[in-house]
Amino acid sequence: MKTYASFRRAWRPAMEGEVHPAIEEFVETKLPRYVDDRDFPSRDGTSRLSPLIASGEITIDDCAAAALAAPPTKGREKWLSELAWHEWFEHVKAAGLDAPRLEPLWDEPGERLERWRVGETGFPLVDAGMRELAATGWMHNRARMVTASFLVKHLHIDWRVGEAHFADLLADYDPAQNEGNWQWVAGTGIDAQPWFRILTPERLPEADELIQAWPEEAFDRIGLDDTCYICVLSHDPKFDEPALRLALRSPAAYIGAIGSRKTQAERRERLAAEGFTPDEIARIYGPIGLDLGGRAPAETALAILAEVTRVRYGVAGDTRR
Ligand SMILES: Cc1cc2nc3c(=O)[nH]c(=O)nc-3n(C[C@H](O)[C@H](O)[C@H](O)COP(=O)(O)OP(=O)(O)OC[C@H]3O[C@@H](n4cnc5c(N)ncnc54)[C@H](O)[C@@H]3O)c2cc1C
Repeated sequence: MKTYASFRRAWRPAMEGEVHPAIEEFVETKLPRYVDDRDFPSRDGTSRLSPLIASGEITIDDCAAAALAAPPTKGREKWLSELAWHEWFEHVKAAGLDAPRLEPLWDEPGERLERWRVGETGFPLVDAGMRELAATGWMHNRARMVTASFLVKHLHIDWRVGEAHFADLLADYDPAQNEGNWQWVAGTGIDAQPWFRILTPERLPEADELIQAWPEEAFDRIGLDDTCYICVLSHDPKFDEPALRLALRSPAAYIGAIGSRKTQAERRERLAAEGFTPDEIARIYGPIGLDLGGRAPAETALAILAEVTRVRYGVAGDTRR
């Protein structure tokens, strides 16, 4: 097993019959917010217990027992379900169900592989993940998913090549987990095959530019100013809310957000609790779009454009009849 300076603080053995101090610290401090923080590689929101699990110093049972002894929260439920993923991949391997079900035609790796390995692809999130791995022997789960997906679905390189690179560097390397997750990303394994989960330019041929990035990175690249009209349409709070927070701090001309009235009210409450003033929150047009009674996607798009036009020219937009 490899050891890395960044993990030395985690290697504090438990006394017989005690909860391991690293589990205890996570359960007491981060578990309640796990569901909100776990998807953000920039936050220290996960347990980072995987090297201890992979080395056998602690077990999934130890983690589950500590979580079950904690007060019930959404964070606790989510963490228990992540622990179950570990057990799932363990069973898949132990039962000999880990052979690939699909063998796509892969491209020759070439020098693009080297750029991926050293974190010089030019895609900030991919490069940050690969450099984190090289520097610390650990990578955030979201970054693992993105870097693996990039290798397989953008560079068309065999997942086994990436798996071997991760195996060389990961402090938590575990064959069942690494192969299982790589196959999950590649869509070749026994579990759900998300090979269709990819945003390609072909799907949006009329877009001038496609940026596939977290809101922080995307807005940073675009540079928000008063000529920007922002429509937040993901239906997913982990994208919507960071995007709205950034939009509210910018001079954007228009900020619209999809979602029912209930979703909007809950979102506004959360923004208020974070310190946004009523005037700031009132900048959000939500539910997005003028109420034209449309139902089809194209009609929704029209309603949004109508609202954007009304805001742009600062008029009431009444009927001329
Ligand atoms: C391409 C790829 C390769 C991976 N290789 C490994 C590996 O070699 N070893 C490894 O332990 N994990 C691997 N994972 C799973 C996951 O990324 C790590 O377990 C997790 O990031 C560890 O951080 P944590 O302990 O802070 O996780 P937390 O979010 O705190 O989760 C707690 C524990 O739940 C389990 N868990 C969480 N996510 C997963 C998951 N997706 N699959 C299986 N178990 C999970 C782990 O045991 C983890 O320590 C891989 C994921 C991907 C996408």
